Formats: sequence, structure tokens, C-alpha cells
Amino acid sequence: MARYTGPLCRLCRREGEKLNLKGNRCVTEKCSIERRKYAPGQHGQNKGKISDYGTQLREKQKVRRIYGIMEKQFRIYFQKASSMKGITGEILLQFLERRIDNVVYRMGFAINRREARQLVRHCHFLVNGKRVSIPSYLLRAGDVVEVRESSRNIPAITESIAISEHRGFPQWMEINPESMRGKFLRVPTRDEINLPVQEQLIVELYSK
Ligand code: SF4
Repeated sequence: MARYTGPLCRLCRREGEKLNLKGNRCVTEKCSIERRKYAPGQHGQNKGKISDYGTQLREKQKVRRIYGIMEKQFRIYFQKASSMKGITGEILLQFLERRIDNVVYRMGFAINRREARQLVRHCHFLVNGKRVSIPSYLLRAGDVVEVRESSRNIPAITESIAISEHRGFPQWMEINPESMRGKFLRVPTRDEINLPVQEQLIVELYSK
């Protein structure tokens, strides 16, 4: 599956806000958006009026970038969400939150979602005792995620756990940092997904 491998800070600058894609650096004064509050590129400082379509497009791009999803897969999530009963935008976000790369990040086993994705790909985690190496694997309520025995000394994981303990964990998960294990208790509600996004704009964009 293709993925974006370019500079992460550039994505935040393009969206004009902090997407917290890097981890620790995002809360320091080294954050690029603190120093350069304009879009990257030659015309980045030209601010024109943005159309309704432009606003919807930017919102969709923002969510894609936060979760590190390519357009094709994102659209598949949307199609699945729109075919289900309920609020499409909320279901879309719930799909994204259930991905194992996101859960590994939320549980504090990786400093950001990009790193979580790589760690999953390299088979460092078990779900309910079985190895999972597909970042898009969707968790269900009650699933247990743990770091594999042979991966417990990997610095990227141990350092991230130390940092995450200060940051705190979401309510829909039960984490035990000492045993490097976490339980995905339930699918979060929209209120619990603490993201500055207006998912309704994405629904409007794809419904045109
Ligand atoms: Fe975005 Fe973090 Fe880079 Fe700041 S440091 S621009 S929040 S990725």
C-alpha cells in the first residue's frame, strides 16, 4: 500500500494548523508552524478567498493526513461508513480510530502514527495473542494489543511509553505500560475523539 513519505511538518503548514504528526517536537518551540505560519511553496503566503469546495477539500485532506491514509483507502472507509446506519462522519472517524496503527499510537507504544504503522508492519505486536502486521487491521471492542516478548527492548517503543505516561491515555482503552499491554474497551464516541475536525464537511464533499 502506498504511503506519504515526505516531510510531516509540511503537511501541517499546508493545513494551516498543528496536526501533531511528530510527537514530542509538536509541543516545543521547534514546531515549524510556530515559526512559519503560512503554507509551503512559492505561493504559500498568498492568501486568497477559499470556496466552499476548497474548505471541504482541506478538511478531508486534514483528516487523511492526521491518520496517514491515502485517498483510495480513505474513500473506501467513507463508502463503508455511508452504507451503515448512523451519522456517516462519526462512523468514518470510528473506522479510522479502530485501525491498529492508530490504536498502537493511542496506547503510547509509538510516538506518532507513522512510527506506529512501521512498528506494526515489522510485526512487533500481537492482537489477542496473534501476530498482526497490517496497519489497517480494525480492532473490535475487547481486543487486547500487546508488544511481542522479543520486541520489548526496542528503544522506539520503550521511549514512547515513558513519554506517553505523562501525556495520558484515552478513556476507551485500558493500558498497562509495565506489561506493555492494552485493551481496546470500546469504539469511541465522537465526543471522545479529540480532534479539531468538522467531519460533516467531508460527507458534503464526497456526496456531491
Ligand atoms: Fe506539525 Fe508537529 Fe511539525 Fe509542528 S512539529 S508542524 S505540529 S508535525
